[in-house]
Amino acid sequence: MKPARPFILTYHSLDTSGSVVSLSPDMFRCQMEWLARSRRLVVPLQQIRETPGGVALTFDDGFRNFFQHAFPVLQRYGFPATVFVISGYCGGRNNWPTQPRNAGIPMLELMRWSEVEQVARAGIRIGCHTATHPSLTLLAESEIECELATSRAAIEDRVGRAVDMFAYPYGDNPPRVRDAVGRHFHLACGTRLAAVSPAADLLDLPRLDIYYFQNQFWFEGLGKPYGAGYVAARALLRGMRRRFMG
Ligand SMILES: [Zn+2]
Repeated sequence: MKPARPFILTYHSLDTSGSVVSLSPDMFRCQMEWLARSRRLVVPLQQIRETPGGVALTFDDGFRNFFQHAFPVLQRYGFPATVFVISGYCGGRNNWPTQPRNAGIPMLELMRWSEVEQVARAGIRIGCHTATHPSLTLLAESEIECELATSRAAIEDRVGRAVDMFAYPYGDNPPRVRDAVGRHFHLACGTRLAAVSPAADLLDLPRLDIYYFQNQFWFEGLGKPYGAGYVAARALLRGMRRRFMG
């Protein structure tokens, strides 16, 4: 049988609120246990295009509950992962100006720099998710440049290595945004719901938001024919919700 297309999973917060950006820590543990048991190839994000059947794990926004709940589990299984942090909010909360109100998203702490440094030292890759989490499409060229350059420099300063991966807030990446991102980073992730093809654009890698895979049946369908059908159906039905899941 031909190996399934690889895919990238997007997690945000691991908490029990049930919000659109939340997955419970228990569910996360079950998912990682299943990936380990089923011997899925969990690979670094930068290798995903070339790894048929592979899975890459990404975490947007750098929530503190990544440090508390995901990091120990990833360490236990030896799974690589990438965390996209917002340089201007490390140690703060998810109250950036574009955070939708009345969307039921709880106010949550984000990792402190000392925690970002600690997970980076342990092998977690730190990517960039801007300085203030704006929708880059609404900004002038100079503001986009400022968001990208200041956040990349701040993170590189802390983790002591080049930061070459980026995640677009809200997945917004029209050509002028993508061009600017391409001047700073090798690879960038969007929010388009699809598996990764070998020819996928490195500056707009599709990802599967875990919101759609909280049910273990659908999670275990990833990489199987029934799972591929489900991904295609969800991609079609996806509406307003994406605005909340940046
Ligand atoms: Zn985000």
